[in-house]
Amino acid sequence: MTSGMPAACVIGWPVKHSRSPLIHEYWLKRYGVAGLYRREEVRPEAFADFIGSLGERGYVGANVTLPHKEQALALSVPDDRARSVGAANTLWFEHGELRSTNTDVEGFTANLDANVPGWDSQPGEAVVLGAGGGARAIICGLIERGFTRINVVNRSLSRAEQLRGRFGACIHPYHWSAVPHLLARASLLVNATSLGMLGQPRLDIDLSPLHPDTVVTDLVYVPLNTPLIAAAQTRGLPTVDGLGMLLHQAVRGFAMWFGVWPEVTAELRAVVEAHIGH
Ligand code: NDP
Repeated sequence: MTSGMPAACVIGWPVKHSRSPLIHEYWLKRYGVAGLYRREEVRPEAFADFIGSLGERGYVGANVTLPHKEQALALSVPDDRARSVGAANTLWFEHGELRSTNTDVEGFTANLDANVPGWDSQPGEAVVLGAGGGARAIICGLIERGFTRINVVNRSLSRAEQLRGRFGACIHPYHWSAVPHLLARASLLVNATSLGMLGQPRLDIDLSPLHPDTVVTDLVYVPLNTPLIAAAQTRGLPTVDGLGMLLHQAVRGFAMWFGVWPEVTAELRAVVEAHIGH
């Protein structure tokens, strides 16, 4: 490990696809910080050892991506958000202790704040499609912002039902067949499934029941202009794509590791967009 400079990394298996290095390297240069950010490909069975020696390896902290987010939670001292989501994606040392959080929560809300200010001023009913790790972070953010009815639609209903156990009675689990009825009452629609992602089946739903003010957002950002975002734009609905969430979730880690609170700018977005090659 190189001398003296604070270093962080993203740990995943695989990790080649991660765009986190692009974001953090951009900020290191932009703010003139002498630091490093690396990719670390670590097998699930080697993750605990890797985390146990993170400091010895010269790291001040790390991002954690699939499939390690649950293990990262168990191997660190999580904050309320990480505990609530059941997964950690950002680690740092504090008073010698390895702490963790889940910055997907603030990534989601900050992205909406930046693009549709006031989206949460009168929280109505939210429809969340999906019940995986991304959906858990979204739900945590929606509850923080005062949403009291979150309709969760998932192919495996039992997974949506588990979220009611985790987050409480504000979660209402549904089958896909309920979507038209739920859309008519929604003030926010979030796609937190992998449908619409490059190489995955399309997300094909009829948006005609939506009110013209309903905000539509997609966690999928490859491609940037997903079928859902395109369909919502055709109807003139306010839309927010998933790239902003990825950028905003990176902010706090950078601040913890390198001591500068970085900004999500149009220039940073253009750098990552070019990489996605939409
Ligand atoms: P998970 O694997 O945890 O969950 C996947 C979800 O998609 C589940 O609800 C699953 O349903 C559903 N799903 C998958 N295939 C189908 C299908 N063919 N038909 C219906 N439902 C399906 O993934 P994540 O929650 O981690 O990620 C979901 C998406 O969000 C990914 O595209 C990911 O890249 C993106 N994401 C983006 C972020 C950002 O910063 N923009 C942050 C986090 C995630 P079931 O339970 O029935 O299998």
